Amino acid sequence: MSVNKQIVLDSRPSGKVAPGNFRLVEAPIPTPGEGQIVVRQHYLSLDPYMRGRLNDVKSYAKPQEVGAVMGGGAVGEVIESRNPKFKAGDFVVGPGGWQLYALSDGAGFNTVDAKKIPIQAYVGVVGMPGVTAWYGLNKIIAPKPGEIVVVSAASGAVGGVVGQLARLAGAKAIGIAGGAEKCNYVHSELGFDACVDHKSPHFADELKAALPNGLDGLFENVGGEPFLQCLRQLNDFARIAICGLIASYEGAPTVLPDMRLFLVRRMKIEGFIVSDHLALWPQALGELAGLVASGRLRYRETVRQGLESAPQALVDLLHGGNFGKMLVKLV
Ligand code: NDP
Repeated sequence: MSVNKQIVLDSRPSGKVAPGNFRLVEAPIPTPGEGQIVVRQHYLSLDPYMRGRLNDVKSYAKPQEVGAVMGGGAVGEVIESRNPKFKAGDFVVGPGGWQLYALSDGAGFNTVDAKKIPIQAYVGVVGMPGVTAWYGLNKIIAPKPGEIVVVSAASGAVGGVVGQLARLAGAKAIGIAGGAEKCNYVHSELGFDACVDHKSPHFADELKAALPNGLDGLFENVGGEPFLQCLRQLNDFARIAICGLIASYEGAPTVLPDMRLFLVRRMKIEGFIVSDHLALWPQALGELAGLVASGRLRYRETVRQGLESAPQALVDLLHGGNFGKMLVKLV
């Protein structure tokens, strides 16, 4: 392979993002200057936050620039290094973006142990999504043994970890997922106590039936109508971690809770962004890696092949076309 293929943002989507908003370009494979590394990327991480970056609006991170290589996390192998922190042959995770080869000064890149855990897990269960689950569950919901925790998008990269960690903490975990196959996986393979299908015409009744003792913690990944239904089942002193609102990332209005609930349920609701808590990442990653290595934390991946598949993979991720962590395999 003599060229570096890259995918750039060609135009900002208005409404739903489509593969036509992106363009494939070619460039020479970079050579590192003083202090730089070149990474041959093996897997791209596809993440819902990417949709927000396509809009030119003020948010917690800068918008993706039109004409620039699409940003995003990736794992790969250092093939050339002029940076003392890295050497050729190191496996690294970092913000490599949608391209075959990434050139960097090393900022945001970290070496990973490719022998213990498959490298792609470092953008999933032992990466940003895993830490997101760990933070929201432990630092916001903080479940006590016997409490009931509900998590939406329960078969996904974040949600699957939330429920398993809740169970390990002695709480009960109830998932919400789209369709029988995902619900069956959440219950049977991830070990949640139950999972309710948000696509069922009887969702509200089925959720209520799955929560005869209400809920104490809600890890919200989606927003929308299922979120409002969960609020109806809250116990006093419930904690809600607002992690994501994927149902509204493509323009649908966000739903608003009934303010009376805050008072009468004496509940706590807190939004968070995992990158604000970098000091806790080593602890979280250490715990997650230990659980994965000992087989107590399970996960699934959807792997698309080739750089060209990335735009469609993002579209699919935003509409439930993934089963677990969405990845694009490059090597
Ligand atoms: P997932 O692997 O969970 O994939 C997204 C899932 O969202 C889909 O598979 C689908 O699951 C579900 N979904 C999409 N649209 C809807 C809808 N309209 N109604 C109900 N469910 C829907 O993604 P991640 O685990 O990577 O991310 C989960 C959430 O966490 C996202 O909202 C993301 O933005 C957020 N996040 C927040 C972070 C933070 O720092 N606050 C960091 C990382 C992620 P199904 O088919 O089951 O409906």
